[in-house]
Amino acid sequence: MYPKDKLCNWYHGQGLWAHVPKNDWNNWVWQLQNRITTAAQLKQYMTLTEEENAGCEFSDYKLAVAITPYFFNLIDREDADCPIRRQVIPRVEEMNIAPDEMLDPVGEEKTMPVEGLVHRYPDRVLFLVTDRCAAYCRYCTRSRLVSNAQDYNFHPEMESGLKYIEQHKEVRDVLLSGGDPLLLSDKKLAYLLKRLRAIDHIEFIRIGTRIPLFLPQRITPELCEILKNQGPIWVSIHTNHPKECTLEVKKACEQLSFSGIPLGNQSVLLKKVNDNVDVMKSLVHRLLMMRVRPYYIYQCDLITGSSHLRSDVKTGIEIIEGLRGHTSGYAIPQFVIDAPGGGGKVPINPEYVERITESEIIIRNYEGKSYRYALINGSVPVKHDHNDVIEEISV
Ligand SMILES: *Cc1c(COP(=O)(O)O)cnc(C)c1O
Repeated sequence: MYPKDKLCNWYHGQGLWAHVPKNDWNNWVWQLQNRITTAAQLKQYMTLTEEENAGCEFSDYKLAVAITPYFFNLIDREDADCPIRRQVIPRVEEMNIAPDEMLDPVGEEKTMPVEGLVHRYPDRVLFLVTDRCAAYCRYCTRSRLVSNAQDYNFHPEMESGLKYIEQHKEVRDVLLSGGDPLLLSDKKLAYLLKRLRAIDHIEFIRIGTRIPLFLPQRITPELCEILKNQGPIWVSIHTNHPKECTLEVKKACEQLSFSGIPLGNQSVLLKKVNDNVDVMKSLVHRLLMMRVRPYYIYQCDLITGSSHLRSDVKTGIEIIEGLRGHTSGYAIPQFVIDAPGGGGKVPINPEYVERITESEIIIRNYEGKSYRYALINGSVPVKHDHNDVIEEISV
């Protein structure tokens, strides 16, 4: 179970980089410049397993390796199964292709009217504004285009995306993603948000980002000011394990919150990372302490080379069952499968309805006990004594 003491075990510090001046360490550009991006660099700091070593050799033309020093410190270098390690260090299994795995598992390419803009749902769009992230998740659903390791050659042109949104009045919600939008410079981000704000039919802007986890140093007062000025903006962060919820992350989330930004979290269900109730419960509790509302848990998309990280759908359902009723309702995310081929997100829920008829519904609670709720179809009028009513009112 992570962690034993919820408040005292929050990680903090420079770890392997204790010799680096604090100013550098706290500078997000320094963190980016000093990312670990090669097997040779990894080996300077840790012993790679055979599987990892072989995985690194392939990463150059699959999905680049990049880990910020800050995030690297969270890895338990003695534990080959460390849940942080499994998320960011490549493994040889990435080169396997399981049946049904695909390069575009949620069918984004066929609902992309202009490059970088996915219009799948009636009233909202996904706007991919960059192909770069602070660090790369090995199970990335967009590894075909992110990090530029494959032949995709993604060059989203912000102006054509903006033009599409301006011309489509049915779009009221724009979700910025990528890549990671918070990797854009302050100037570029401010420009983009201002342009979106200027469109009358855009009611709602949100940003999907893992920057607060990979690079909390990026959440500067200047960035917060931009987000505050162009708000309301909602932000979805992406964390999978309670070990990621450090003091630095807590502070970054607080700064965002205090700038008026509601925060949600999206997790991906990953084998030997977070595929059990105890880890998830600890994670969602920490999220609430950081003012982050758990939003979605995704069944891992059928992205090529991810079978070693894919957990069972049944496990996802068991996690939701293990949370509902057992802890705060605010802590419970929606478990979804993003349907292959472009069907969108479909909720997957435990079954709480045992039976439903014309006259009753039999429901099961979190303890497994059954309850009956009568379904009343039409009521019989009750005769009131007029005087009684008058008396009641005059009291
Ligand atoms: C996830 C997603 C959205 C947003 O979905 P919500 O359920 O509203 O959070 C919008 N467009 C695309 C293409 C998506 O994948």
